[in-house]
Formats: sequence, structure tokens, C-alpha cells
Amino acid sequence: MRIERIKARAVMAPLAVPITTAQASIPAAPLVLVDVETDEGVSGSAYIFGYTPPMLKPLVTFLTDLSEALVGSPAHPADVDRQTASQFRLLGRQGMVGMALAGLDLALWDAHGKAVGQPVCALFGTAPRPLPCYDSQGLFVPGRDERLIEASLARGFKAIKVKLGFPTVAEDVAALRVVRDMIGPERQLMLDYNQAFDAPEAIARIRVLEEAGLDLTWVEEPVPAEDLAGYRSVRTAVSTAIQSGENWWHPADAARMIAATDYAMPDIIKIGGLSGWFRAAAIAEAAGVPVSSHLFVEASAHALAATTNAHLLEWLDVAGGVMTEPYAIEDGCVTARGPGLGITWDDDKIARHLVH
Ligand SMILES: [Mg+2]
Repeated sequence: MRIERIKARAVMAPLAVPITTAQASIPAAPLVLVDVETDEGVSGSAYIFGYTPPMLKPLVTFLTDLSEALVGSPAHPADVDRQTASQFRLLGRQGMVGMALAGLDLALWDAHGKAVGQPVCALFGTAPRPLPCYDSQGLFVPGRDERLIEASLARGFKAIKVKLGFPTVAEDVAALRVVRDMIGPERQLMLDYNQAFDAPEAIARIRVLEEAGLDLTWVEEPVPAEDLAGYRSVRTAVSTAIQSGENWWHPADAARMIAATDYAMPDIIKIGGLSGWFRAAAIAEAAGVPVSSHLFVEASAHALAATTNAHLLEWLDVAGGVMTEPYAIEDGCVTARGPGLGITWDDDKIARHLVH
């Protein structure tokens, strides 16, 4: 099977629930859709989350130009990995290059699954299985966002994560108290600080959260993702479990950071596609660290199904708005489906939301 064509398109995919951060409310997801056509008539599909609209055009252009070097190459993830590793040795593969290559890796695995009529997780040795997931909410502001928590409960989630962006930890406690009271003591509650603090501030805040008895399953990214010393000191100083990993680039970052986190949640794009995911998951398993996912519910559902140290799937559906059959929650779980990754483009919706 050889690569015949790589197609990249950018869309602003409408979101069922806008993503809210301390800075903005995002009504649509900037995505690059990657389709790889092969000489055997099978094609593979995946998408890249661009984070911000100005990333879309460069990603589309880069993938389109890159495809000239890859047409005629074997459509195998390991072969493309080898070829592009040497092609980008001097530049490095972090940032946009890594995102594009990971999208390609996912699309190639999708093609391989479709070629044998199997879900991708079967290629990694397992059948699809229901994976417990958590609803990944944005910024929670008391008095404004209770309806979002109610919606999570109505959909059957047994775990909920919120972000906070308040100046004081007293406001953090007040907001989390509202959520904890709404969801009761049995459901899991997680907090994402999105790299907001230095280590001393993070330690001070988390100690107050602990004294407040909020029973947090984890506190995520309390300090900047690359701050190894910061993670070490936070982890030593507090008893709450620390989660990190969505900003690790490739398995090398997992190897560097794994001893300084309790939980890991590699982003299947930044970690290097499914190929990178399983290398990072093995590093985490050897260190005794359970692995959750970040975004990309479809690919993550396949990856986690075949990950022996799987923890929770993050439910944040960014691509359902351009698919004919979006993935769904059932009894608080997501189950992978095939063939391939189970991604089904809705061409009408794509045409309506196409930007590049
Ligand atoms: Mg996060």
C-alpha cells in the first residue's frame, strides 16, 4: 500500500458546547482534516486540533507541500516516521511539524484499519470496550455555569473536570464547593489550572483546596508543562494527585517528565500520533503512571482501549460537528468503533464550515 495523495482542509467545526477559558469563549473548533489516499483504493482520515484559527492555513499549506515528498512512499506509519525523522532532523519536529506528522500518522493507521475491515484498536491487540470518561468543561463561574454541570449529570457522566481562572484561592474553593455540592460525593471531580502558577503559588493553592475537603481526583498542570523542577516540588509538597502530559512533545518529553507526575494524559497529536502514544504509554506503565487522554475522542478511544494502564478518556468532542456519526456517551463511557478510527466526514457540513 502506497501513498497516492494527501489532502488537507481546514474547518471551523461548530461545537455543541462552546469551550470557555479565562480569556475567551470559543464557539467553533479550528480543525485541519487530513485524508490520505492510497494506491489500493483505501483512504485514511484524521484531524488535527489547531488551537487557534491562524494555525489553520499554515498547517494546510505545510501538509500539502509535504505530500509531494511522500507520494509513492509506503503508506505505513513506521516508514513515514523514519522518512520524516531524517527529513526534519535539523528543524526538529515540535510545534506545527509534529502536529502535521501526527495527523498523518493517525490517518495512516485509519487506512490500515479500513484495509482489513477492523477498528484500529484491533491492530494493537484488542477489541473496542467501553472506556470510563469524564466531561471536560471549561471555566466554571458560579451563578453562570451551573446549567453546564446539570447537563453533564443529565448525560450520565460520573466524572467532571472544570477550569478556574480566579485571582484568589478563596474564589477557587467557593466555585469548587458549588460543583462538588451539585455532583455529590460519589462522582469524581478534577481541576485544571492550565499551567497558571509557579511552584510556590501552586503549592499554596493546592494545600488550601486540600483543607477545604473537596476530594479532587487530580489537579492538572498547576505549573508550566516544561517545569520539571516545579512538578517535582509540587508533587512532594501536596498529597493531591497531579495530572500532566497534554503539552508533552513526543515520547522524549514523557521520558523526561514521567517521574514528576502522578497521572499522565498525552495529547495524541503532540505525542506523535498512535505510534507516539504507545511509546509514551509504555514509558508511563513502566513508571507506574495511569494514562488518560486529551481531546481527540475517536483516536483516543482506540488508543486507550489497547493501553494496559488506561485511566480516563477526556470527553471534549471537537469534531462531531463535521461528522455524520459523531461518537457518543453511553452510561458515562465511550466505546471505539471501526472500521479504522470510525471517523465519518459529513461533506455538506465540511463545505459549510470550510475556511481553507
Ligand atoms: Mg488540561
